[in-house]
Amino acid sequence: MKIAIYPGSFDPITNGHLDIIERATNIFDKVFVAIAQNIVKDPLFTVEERLQQIKDSTNHNKNIEAEYFSGLLVDYASSKKAQSIIRGLRAVSDFEYEFQMALMNRKLREDLETVFLMSNEKYTYLNSTIVKEIACHGGDVSNFVPAKIEKQLRQKFENNDC
Ligand code: ADP
Repeated sequence: MKIAIYPGSFDPITNGHLDIIERATNIFDKVFVAIAQNIVKDPLFTVEERLQQIKDSTNHNKNIEAEYFSGLLVDYASSKKAQSIIRGLRAVSDFEYEFQMALMNRKLREDLETVFLMSNEKYTYLNSTIVKEIACHGGDVSNFVPAKIEKQLRQKFENNDC
């Protein structure tokens, strides 16, 4: 069975992430979307909220599971018997960081392969930070996140100064 981990902060999950997840499920039998608890210092959504958002957005496919983890990604991957890590590539700007992470993870566990997928070009400019900024200023994010998350973003920023 081909098992992959798709790690990230997912604060919140966007249509760009979901595009990558769908592509990954075409290659792997099981994809664990894994919230890395130690990445974002001051997240907008709690880990539990993010977990629920991912579950709600992926529950049409039983080959997708959502979890969170702390500690080293390579250890989490071993615990899931995963052979691969999925990462999304947008622009050249992603490359340097992703390159470093992939090679470091390979040093830590040689047989764990990082697989890079490219999202649909309509999502190449999209990340969670920019979505939060637009939502905070009252902008329309309906093309960027699932409807339920759009509503949650509006609620979070209701009484908030940007
Ligand atoms: P971000 O805040 O950049 O969305 P994450 O840690 O949640 O950060 O991202 C997890 C992974 O998903 C990373 O490999 C990131 O490059 C990738 N990713 C995020 N958004 C997109 C997108 N719009 N298209 C392709 N890959 C993406």
